[in-house]
Amino acid sequence: MLCNNITEKLLGMQDVEVKNIENKDKNIVNITLRLKRKPHKCPCCGNMTNKIHDYRKQNIKDIPMFGNNTIITLEKRRYACSCGKRFIEKVDFLPRYHRMTKRLILYVIDKLRSPVSFTYIANEVGLSVSTVIRIFDYVSYGKPELPKAIAIDEFLIYQRISEVLTTETMSIYLYLTCGKLMLIFLKHTLKKLIWLLINTIG
Ligand SMILES: [Zn+2]
Repeated sequence: MLCNNITEKLLGMQDVEVKNIENKDKNIVNITLRLKRKPHKCPCCGNMTNKIHDYRKQNIKDIPMFGNNTIITLEKRRYACSCGKRFIEKVDFLPRYHRMTKRLILYVIDKLRSPVSFTYIANEVGLSVSTVIRIFDYVSYGKPELPKAIAIDEFLIYQRISEVLTTETMSIYLYLTCGKLMLIFLKHTLKKLIWLLINTIG
């Protein structure tokens, strides 16, 4: 039990029984595990059942471990209810209709923030490039919008330095639709305007 607790901690997964960990292929760690057995509610009649019908193996990709790609072979348990219904147990770390863990999807999303290619990420986590792109498309936000119209005005400020009166040209940028201040610059140049727009859309 102690060993299994340590393995759970190493894997970062709870309520699993690890049956085997091996390197079948170079740079790939294969972990065979089951979820701990517990009563499940029948989706048909609502009664609780703890009766096992059989097991079905499913390969699931997981986050890289110790520099290796990781494949979990989950021995999914099927429960049988007295009403005749057979159903698969609930797996919290696996999104429905997916063959990769939730934390791998989050890992890829985090990697997508870095200035690296889809291919680089795909190689790192052992997924296909198209899968990485699908994750990217799934989480990509809508295109940021530029303000519809902005107002630019210039004004002079006077300052006295060592008894010498000087003037400075300032530029003020406003959102035209709401009058909200965007920024005030010293002098207006095209470069400054481009910088402002780039930073406005983030
Ligand atoms: Zn039932």
